[in-house]
Amino acid sequence: MSERLKIRGTQDELDQLAITVNGLLDRLAAYLKQKHDFLANAAHELRTPLSAIRSSVEVALSGNRTVDEYNELLAEVIDECASLETLVNQLLLLAETDAERPTVLDGDVRLDSLVTRTVEMFQGVADFNGVRLRVEPLPVIFVTGNRNYLRQVLSNLIDNAIKFTASHYQQPSVAAGVNGQAERGEIVISMQKDPERPMVTLTIEDNGPGIGEVDLPHIFDRFYRVDRSRMRGTPTGGTGLGLSICQSIIQTHHGTITVESTIDRGTKFIISLPLASKLAEVIAAS
Ligand code: ADP
Repeated sequence: MSERLKIRGTQDELDQLAITVNGLLDRLAAYLKQKHDFLANAAHELRTPLSAIRSSVEVALSGNRTVDEYNELLAEVIDECASLETLVNQLLLLAETDAERPTVLDGDVRLDSLVTRTVEMFQGVADFNGVRLRVEPLPVIFVTGNRNYLRQVLSNLIDNAIKFTASHYQQPSVAAGVNGQAERGEIVISMQKDPERPMVTLTIEDNGPGIGEVDLPHIFDRFYRVDRSRMRGTPTGGTGLGLSICQSIIQTHHGTITVESTIDRGTKFIISLPLASKLAEVIAAS
């Protein structure tokens, strides 16, 4: 993909055409590289649990073992199969949302109800992990889209917020708090209509470990995970696909997702989505 049309410098129509074609060639090359990197990463991520399964099975087959040892090896195989399943499901979801099928946006979704239900779903996990999960009063909001995909976005973001915030506060140095005053993990979810445009802004903010400046521009990249050592003890056992799935789904809904974060202060994800037509609100109110 290194060939380029020659620009003659005559600034006529042929030169303009050559510039346009070269621009398209550059974009095609970038796209192909992205596809290549994605495939290489996917293959690499699939190989890790597969190798672990193979090695457990080889150990099991290599000689007489006690029942406990066989059980342990089988439990390892089941764990790795679960990782494989998560990864394959996420890859399928990405392929689906990337294709931007028109069926994706199949109706009006009441976003405030969806937020409330999703938070209810995570309340038990948050309580169990000692993290407070709080929703500020939500206005009635309709967006045009796909309920399951939007639920997936909310689930990914809340799940990450709980996971990373909980383990941040489980570290002894953080748990002790400032001046011996113990602090607690907290996640706040809020939603506002934009006063100037027909858009809604949904924010999910935590007071967890935060993300460093070096990592922040990359966290929506496929397979990107923050280095374990820099997360100082927080779990990074995920696939690194969750946020790219969120981004793909939000873009399919003609919205944007951005992030603001400060190390040791916390992370805030900001989603902006176009509102559904007024009709949805009228129907809901009647
Ligand atoms: P993963 O499956 O690893 O969670 P994601 O794409 O969901 O993948 O997230 C990418 C990385 O972004 C995570 O590995 C983590 O390092 C960082 N991250 C995401 N959400 C948060 C958060 N709320 N607080 C701190 N770090 C986060």
